[in-house]
Amino acid sequence: MEVLLRRQAQQLDDLEHTIADLQAAQTGQTPPAAPAGEAGPPFACGSLPEFVEAVIAPLYARHGTSSGGWCPSWWEHQEARVRLHAVWRAWESLRLDPSLGIARWLRDVADPQIDRLRDPDRGPFAACGDRHLQPPDLPLAPAPEGFWDGTAQNLSRGVPPPTSAL
Ligand SMILES: [Zn+2]
Repeated sequence: MEVLLRRQAQQLDDLEHTIADLQAAQTGQTPPAAPAGEAGPPFACGSLPEFVEAVIAPLYARHGTSSGGWCPSWWEHQEARVRLHAVWRAWESLRLDPSLGIARWLRDVADPQIDRLRDPDRGPFAACGDRHLQPPDLPLAPAPEGFWDGTAQNLSRGVPPPTSAL
């Protein structure tokens, strides 16, 4: 019973950190690092900009005539802030595994996320070049009045949304 309670307390703590991470990633702010001895060791990097400067920029350095699918003002892109924040948090955890941690981080986290960000056709930096160019948000059309009321009620009962909503 005590083990179960301890596990649930840890899960709640993890969830609170995840929520703080997502909020921080969306606002571009740095979440508070987990205090030493409470929820794991302290972070090696104190902020997302520090992580990008110390780890990502030198690791993914490339020769080229332009910024090569990177935006010097990466922090202006919400998608980059969220993805790089996820890469940072995974690195903070996986770097502690001395055997396969970094290999797994590269394979499962960093390479796919950085490749996605630097994709010359679909990445958020595609139009930036050597200077930042803010991409437009996805276009959104308002749903008909009452649409979400019925959908939300159906979803709470386990009924899938109408195909027209997909
Ligand atoms: Zn940019």
